[in-house]
Amino acid sequence: MAAAESDREVPSALCTEFLNFSAKDTALKWLQVTDLYKEVYQHLARYVPKIYCLGPNLNPQSEDLLAQLLLQAPLEWYLCGEDPSTGLAKLEQNNQPSQLCGHVFRVGEPTYSCRECAADPTCVLCMQCFLGSVHKEHRYRMTTSGGGGFCDCGDTEAWKKGPYCQKHEPNISDSCQEDPLAHLSTDMIARCYNVFAIVLKYAVDMLTWDKEDELPPGLEPPDRGDTYYCMLFNDEVHTYEQVIYTLQKAVNCTQKEAVSFATTVDRDGRKSVRFGDFAFCEQAKSVIVRNTSRQSKPLRVQVMHSSVVAHQCFALKALHWLGHVIGYSDALRRILCQVGLERGPEGENSSLVDTLMLCDSKMWKGARNVYHQLFMSSLLMDLKYKKLFAIQFAKNYERLQSDYVKDDHDREFSVTDLSVQMFTVPSLARMLITEENLMTTIIRTFVDHLRHRDLQGRFQFERYTAQQAFKFRRVQSLIGDLKYVLISRPTEWSDQLREKFLEGLDTFLELFKCMQGMDPVVRQVGQHIEMEPEWEAAFTLQMKLTHIISMMQEWCATDERVLIEAYKKCLTALTHCHSGFTDGEQPITLSMCGHSVDTIRYCVSQEKVSIHLPVSRLLAGLHVLLSKMEVAYRFPEQLPLSELSPPMLIEHPLRCLVLCAQVHAGMWRRNGFSLVNQIYYYHNVKCRVEMFDKDLIMLQAGASMMDPNHFLMIVLSRFELYHIFSSADCRKSYNRENTNKDVVQQNNTLIEEMLHLIMMVVGERFEAGVGQVEGCDEIKREIIHQLCIRPMAHSELVKALPENENKETGMERVIDCVASFKKPGVTGRGLYELRPECAKQFNLYFHHYSRADQSKAEEAQRKLKRQNGEDMALPPPMLPPFSPLFASLVNILQCDVLLGMLGAVLQWAVEPSGGHWSESMLQRVLHLIGMGLLEEQQQLKNSSEDHDVSFNFTLKISRPGEAPSNTASVLALLENLQNAPHLEVHKDMIRWILKMVASIKTMRELTASTYTVTASGSHGQEEMVCDKDKAERKRKAEMARLRREKIMAQMSEMQRHFINENKELFQQSLEELYASASTSTSLEHSPTSSDAALVCVGPRRSRPREKRQVVTCILCQEEQEIRADSKAMVLAAFVQRSTVMSKNRKRPPHDPEHYDPLFMHPDLSFGTHTGSCGHIMHSHCWQRYFEAVQAKEQRRQQRLRVHTSYDVGNGEFLCPLCECLSNTVIPLLPGTKGSNSCEQPGLGQWLKISGQQIKAMHSAHRKLQPVGVDAVEEQCPATENFRIDYTPMSPYSSTIKEMLTTFGTATYKVGLKVHPNEQDPRVPIMCWGSCAYTIQSIERLLVDEEKPLFGSLPCRQDDCLSSLARFGSACWTAASQPSVQGHYIRLVAALIPDPQVETSPCILDIDMLHLLVSVVLSYGSVHSQDSSGLSVDAVQLHFFHLITVAHMVQMLLTSGPEEVTMEQESGGAEREEEEDICALYNTLRTHLGSSLPEVASGWHLWRCVKTGILPYLRGAALFFHHLNGVPTPPELHALCPGQWEVLCGYLSLPSNLLQLYHSQKELLEPLLYGWCSHPGVRQTLQGGGVLVSFPRESNSLIDLPDDYSALINQASSFTCPKSGGDKSRAPTLCLVCGSMLCSQSYCCQTELDGEDVGACTAHTFACGAGVGIFLRVRESQVLFLSGKTKGCFYAPPYLDDYGETDQGLRRGNPLHLCRQRYRKIQKLWRQHSVTEEIGHAQEANQTLVGIDWQHL
Ligand SMILES: [Zn+2]
Ligand SMILES: [Zn+2]
Ligand SMILES: [Zn+2]
Ligand SMILES: [Zn+2]
Ligand SMILES: [Zn+2]
Ligand SMILES: [Zn+2]
Ligand SMILES: [Zn+2]
Repeated sequence: MAAAESDREVPSALCTEFLNFSAKDTALKWLQVTDLYKEVYQHLARYVPKIYCLGPNLNPQSEDLLAQLLLQAPLEWYLCGEDPSTGLAKLEQNNQPSQLCGHVFRVGEPTYSCRECAADPTCVLCMQCFLGSVHKEHRYRMTTSGGGGFCDCGDTEAWKKGPYCQKHEPNISDSCQEDPLAHLSTDMIARCYNVFAIVLKYAVDMLTWDKEDELPPGLEPPDRGDTYYCMLFNDEVHTYEQVIYTLQKAVNCTQKEAVSFATTVDRDGRKSVRFGDFAFCEQAKSVIVRNTSRQSKPLRVQVMHSSVVAHQCFALKALHWLGHVIGYSDALRRILCQVGLERGPEGENSSLVDTLMLCDSKMWKGARNVYHQLFMSSLLMDLKYKKLFAIQFAKNYERLQSDYVKDDHDREFSVTDLSVQMFTVPSLARMLITEENLMTTIIRTFVDHLRHRDLQGRFQFERYTAQQAFKFRRVQSLIGDLKYVLISRPTEWSDQLREKFLEGLDTFLELFKCMQGMDPVVRQVGQHIEMEPEWEAAFTLQMKLTHIISMMQEWCATDERVLIEAYKKCLTALTHCHSGFTDGEQPITLSMCGHSVDTIRYCVSQEKVSIHLPVSRLLAGLHVLLSKMEVAYRFPEQLPLSELSPPMLIEHPLRCLVLCAQVHAGMWRRNGFSLVNQIYYYHNVKCRVEMFDKDLIMLQAGASMMDPNHFLMIVLSRFELYHIFSSADCRKSYNRENTNKDVVQQNNTLIEEMLHLIMMVVGERFEAGVGQVEGCDEIKREIIHQLCIRPMAHSELVKALPENENKETGMERVIDCVASFKKPGVTGRGLYELRPECAKQFNLYFHHYSRADQSKAEEAQRKLKRQNGEDMALPPPMLPPFSPLFASLVNILQCDVLLGMLGAVLQWAVEPSGGHWSESMLQRVLHLIGMGLLEEQQQLKNSSEDHDVSFNFTLKISRPGEAPSNTASVLALLENLQNAPHLEVHKDMIRWILKMVASIKTMRELTASTYTVTASGSHGQEEMVCDKDKAERKRKAEMARLRREKIMAQMSEMQRHFINENKELFQQSLEELYASASTSTSLEHSPTSSDAALVCVGPRRSRPREKRQVVTCILCQEEQEIRADSKAMVLAAFVQRSTVMSKNRKRPPHDPEHYDPLFMHPDLSFGTHTGSCGHIMHSHCWQRYFEAVQAKEQRRQQRLRVHTSYDVGNGEFLCPLCECLSNTVIPLLPGTKGSNSCEQPGLGQWLKISGQQIKAMHSAHRKLQPVGVDAVEEQCPATENFRIDYTPMSPYSSTIKEMLTTFGTATYKVGLKVHPNEQDPRVPIMCWGSCAYTIQSIERLLVDEEKPLFGSLPCRQDDCLSSLARFGSACWTAASQPSVQGHYIRLVAALIPDPQVETSPCILDIDMLHLLVSVVLSYGSVHSQDSSGLSVDAVQLHFFHLITVAHMVQMLLTSGPEEVTMEQESGGAEREEEEDICALYNTLRTHLGSSLPEVASGWHLWRCVKTGILPYLRGAALFFHHLNGVPTPPELHALCPGQWEVLCGYLSLPSNLLQLYHSQKELLEPLLYGWCSHPGVRQTLQGGGVLVSFPRESNSLIDLPDDYSALINQASSFTCPKSGGDKSRAPTLCLVCGSMLCSQSYCCQTELDGEDVGACTAHTFACGAGVGIFLRVRESQVLFLSGKTKGCFYAPPYLDDYGETDQGLRRGNPLHLCRQRYRKIQKLWRQHSVTEEIGHAQEANQTLVGIDWQHL
């Protein structure tokens, strides 16, 4: 049975045998023998099965040790001929290492590539090399490695510049070309050769061995036992869960073991799951096979003899060993390469290396990994053998790829993945093309794998299922290889290269022929299609080939002869595709405007049409190159120009464009989404370069060779619009009689599309070769048109631009000429804005705009013009001239057919009531006219004499139609339209046209010598002013209306939740609600009454302003005064546990049931924080609201299991006004009234009174005990003033009482993580603690934000603090009085020793602010029974003074020795304090002796105390201010000097705090002694406890490195702490404590409260009391977690140079820390807003709610 046996013992007989073994002797024996091969094999046959695989559980450590001693050591002895430790060291010393770095990347390790210098993007550097290279100053790209692959540092072919880092810089003195073998003795070489040959042969034999029960000859074991393994192999078909489930059944193991088996199978590719005799293993096998064969092919399982497994284990070990040994010397490496590639007995392709490669797909993952690694460190690191290996690889290429396609492992586990290491080396690639015809091989292999063809031999893909997609993806890796081969273009061509490239192109054209016309569509009429046809496969193919096609063209562009040949081949291929082009088609004759042309009868809407035309498009690309390289002009005789038939060239591209137009026009609605998707991709930036763009070019090429009238007639005919424009009276009759609205609409759209197409044919001149432009003009224009839509971030622009095969857009070269960069703030991202001077290049009909882009851009540009006070016309921009080959295209503008069409549309516009026409149609016509005018103006400017200009557009548009119709001229129609009231929007454009006409006329009139060109942009300004004013007013009114609507929408959104549930409650209008939604009437803080010094505590305390406090309920809008006896008003509040201020994250969480929270430790390790959004409701309104939320939630949960951002079951809800996450409410209470100041007792007297009261309470409480211990307790003397039996009446109304319980219970429940129990005596303690903790946290925030103590808090925090303090002082009324008094007694006992209280903490273990707040707030319960006239104020002050002294003592005890002897700068001003403090310190020393170091300087001590006590004093001031409602002194509203004195005054303290002690020395001395003699003090001072020193610094999030890659590097070496050295897939950094965690993974799940949670969630419970802030390093994403169910992602504080984050690390731009943003995250954490932030994020994005956050 698998699990039972544990570590096996090595039988003792073996032990002696092993001990007597001598590696040296064995090696010496080997040196003598003749047949070494046989000897070594015998040795292995004897020992390997004795070392490996002796039982069910492998024991790698002892196995490896034994293997080293018995197997490797003799080999090393033999190899070196001496002790290997010296021999190998010598080898290493003599080695001259190659300059290649060759560092093999771990998974997740950062890699760097230079975007300027890398030969291609696969060239990468490791971090070490990168930091020592020149590229770190360049534009570089950073990615994380997927594992495998190595650093290219030192490879001169990989880098255009700077191929070496500092470390790998070649030493000039080195003769690096030297043969590395030269240094080795021939003997050594021979021995080496022998050993490598035998070991490699052995490894290859074993790894490729496929028999389960026998061994290769020579390895049969001497004694064969009957032990077998049941070996389970990895596949990519079955899921983890399936395997785990099956294993549990088959081998009867636990879930945990099954998980471990499955993990190993996944990682290593195989794992034995059972050990035993044959039958035993066979049984497990049959169960596994049976269980997994139901849905798919079964899991692969083999029952293997243990000796076979043993030899395979050692074979892997042997490969490792080879890799290790060759690491010592390049010479050894070369010998190994030689051995590996030596031809075997079977001739060609039979070397050991070949054998391994050819068996690759049969091996398990682990074996493949090991030998791939060895290849990388040997063959690929030796330049000579790399070449030889590449040749073998190319020879086997077809076989390897076929094996890979059939295999199901990922490509990274296939030997084919090594192609990148060779094919991307330009010299190797070129060599493989010419010598091994690699290009043809790759393409042919690719085509062979695509078998689905239709009758015409075109591809026909079946339904694109997941399985097919998987297969298809594997085939596509071939395209990747082709890309590698083509990626660097040749600078020189040999004839052989030309021949092989063109041969490759031929094969490529064969592929294209199969694609031309694939997936044809036919318009569906009548019914909707039944099944969406398959289209994805074809488009995937097209998309993958896009870069290849572009690269082929670029290769052609580097050699004229190749270009000419390629053009010819492509034309032949196209002709072949078109054979039968006119078959069966009826030729027809079209005539119009006196021109006629013959064409075929073909309707896109009726016949088959395909969007795939790669042959035509390749020809279009090559045609442009003819022009660009001027081949067309220099060698016209070599070109088959006469064979070109322009109508044939344009036919299919035109059909495709018409198809798009018809789809836009809605004619293909019944063809479903597949067609819509195809059209989308046809225009998409990923495909358009080799699809849409090339179709347009083909149209331009064809049209440039045709009569423009003929071209346009054919276009009209294909658009199926010919009948409209060809009729003689088309100007009048169009559509007049046509009543079918749909048809009219369709025709309108088609006309618009056609006009747009004509604009593009004439106007798109930015492709070099078509127009006379530079390469970067095109990209500039793209960017300009993107930015005309709106300012864009870098990444948005990149997405909108086509990338080349190097993933570059070329944007960086030109962006600064056309745009300016605007940096981001704390949120958002950096944006590029168009330079104003570029706006004039805007073309509304830019060919890459979608319709949506177009209208957005139009709107934006008109707005811009309005802002600049310009007219609204958006005329076409100036265009560059055409290249000569395309020059005739301009004539389209002035040809008769076009003018006829323009006239017709204008005529329809003149009589809008008659025909159907559209404004867009008119707009396009005006644009075309504008283009004509600009063209003419341009030509006039550029010609020296008027007569040169044959282009006379103005003349043509001024000419009226001929008789008999005598139609009006275009110009006349325009003048007519100028005043048409229904064309208001187009007025500016028409006016612009008329002005242009006039200006051109002037130009023509001022003939030849003296014309000047008037700028076309000036207008009659005056007439415009009036219009503009009107427009402006209208615009403003519109803006105001929109703003109103927006506000209304926002408000109704805010209240949606509440209104939905409480309709009847809502009567008030929204505006009123909004206006009164701010918090309570807050005049409290105006520091006006500064006549007398303000004091907040003690008998002298200033009176609070007499003021009714009136608030408005946000739910019912009623006003309500805050009084003890009125209806309760509550604040929405959120209580949470917190470790934000913890000084001790190692303290384990408390046991909630038994924890005593009365004293807070000064390390503040766990606190309870209360926050509020400040929104006030009636308690009954809130209750009704909450019940409604609950009910809704119940209904929702019944319907479907949806999560919400809040957990109703846990009391959570969203504030009905601001949707802030809340989990309870705090009641608002009136402030305490000032007491009448009669004579109050001094400290001594009060101590006595207090002692008596405590005694009385002790005895009273004892009586309450059921069994009194002894009744003879002495009666208290002071009972007359202390009515212990008196039970005071609660002053509060019933609703307030109820709310007191509500909030108390909530704080208790959350703070202790227990079930609610309002009876628990700890309830009030938790409330006091939360008050103190919240005060402390706010005090810290104010310091961190450098804000003054008072006046800078938002009202919501002021309100929250006041209600917390007042609640705290009232909460005893809701609890049992004896228990509160019990707390009081214990609190006091910590200060004033009380023999009846047994365990008081020592003062080093008490946080004094918590003590102060608790003792003051609990005193209420004692005071209620006091009748002596003792005022609360006096008691508060005594306690405050006492605790302040205690705090000073606490600080003196922890102050530590002087740090640096600084110049003591006190000039006597603080002399007194220094002397006093020395006195106090010395008193303490007398009590504690040597535990306290001697301190000479009072100055140092006073410094320590003064700075240490400040946070406490500030906290106390906040506390008393809010408790007693005393106004605050104005000096504390600013950060000015002298704060100390003001603060002390406000707190009724002497500014020399030591006076507190010295003035009452006799009374305090015994207390001091008591504190010091607590055993805990001595123990803590001697290092026995947590010693906290003061002041406690604010906690910060951890420091992050500036460069993000440092983090990636750190994370890449992080291994999962649970699964022994495995790389973690999602390393995640806790930003609070800096721990790295293995997140989102099975391995690190743990159980928390009975649930499996991921590493992050588990960590938050210890580190952040449930709240966590993490950085997911691989994703570059911040993760907020709260509890088990809440979480959200947050933008990381790392930005690239463009001010953008890179979540998911997809773009790879270098990232640097943005401190501002990190501070913002830190602030969220410090102010306890993380959970709130998650709530808002989840409300905004519901998909976040569904994520299983607890598994992260
Ligand atoms: Zn390197
Ligand atoms: Zn290097
Ligand atoms: Zn560089
Ligand atoms: Zn109300
Ligand atoms: Zn709110
Ligand atoms: Zn893990
Ligand atoms: Zn942590």
